[in-house]
Amino acid sequence: MGPINQALVKLFEADQKYRQAQSRYEAASRDVRFQERKVNELVARLDQTHHEFKELQARSANTELDIKAREQKIEHYREQQQTAKNNKEYQTFLVQINTEKVDKNKIEDELLKLMEQVEKTQGELKALVEHVEAEKLKLAQLREQITGRLEVLKQEMDDLKPARDLAAAEVPAKHLDTFERLCERFDGEALAAIAKPNRRVEEYICSSCNMSMAPDIYNRVHSRDEPLTCPSCRRFLFIPNDLPPELAVNQPKKPKKSEGKSAEAKAGAEPPTVQSAQPTEAPQVDAPPATPPNQA
Ligand SMILES: [Zn+2]
Repeated sequence: MGPINQALVKLFEADQKYRQAQSRYEAASRDVRFQERKVNELVARLDQTHHEFKELQARSANTELDIKAREQKIEHYREQQQTAKNNKEYQTFLVQINTEKVDKNKIEDELLKLMEQVEKTQGELKALVEHVEAEKLKLAQLREQITGRLEVLKQEMDDLKPARDLAAAEVPAKHLDTFERLCERFDGEALAAIAKPNRRVEEYICSSCNMSMAPDIYNRVHSRDEPLTCPSCRRFLFIPNDLPPELAVNQPKKPKKSEGKSAEAKAGAEPPTVQSAQPTEAPQVDAPPATPPNQA
């Protein structure tokens, strides 16, 4: 592969290492984050319950005042009734007193229900306060337990960052942009290895999305210095170490017109002979056996 493709593979590898350290850090801090969320949810519920409790208390106080006002009214009607001038007047006050009494009874029932609610909410509030305290304590303990471990994991991340930055600096800006976008989209899997599922058949697929690719794809990634992407998932393609040209490119069963190519390839490779089955315009695979393929 050419220098740009090599730089992309290097960046991919450094980025993967950094991401792995990052996931270790996140996994370790997951319990703490989970507990933090739990505490926050409980505190929100506590606030809400406290608010409801205050409201119920205010409503009970108002209802009590209402009852007192009605009692005073009834008392007032009674006093007037005592001084009634005739039976008709007496009866009128009696009706008023009874009406007030009926209303007062209804409100007293309401007050009873409200007081029950106040009591119930007060119980909930007390239980919630205890629950919040217990979960806060658990959070503090978790934080204490994990602090040392998190520091180590954070340090691992920090140690891997410069290598990633350095590798990124080696990739031309245009391709780096694409790389970062692909990383975001595929959770770091910005590159896909070319795979050859069947050793005997010269067919290549993208190892990430399994899309079949043009037969000349291997040669193009191998010999050109222009990053190529999978036509389906758009990841950058690279040649993995376990797919050197002598494994990737088969010798055709039927000899082709261009016999010269075979001889030429024999000169540069160990058996099995490297033979390109590419369209004629594709560059010939040249495989010096001593050089690892991704640095060829
Ligand atoms: Zn793909």
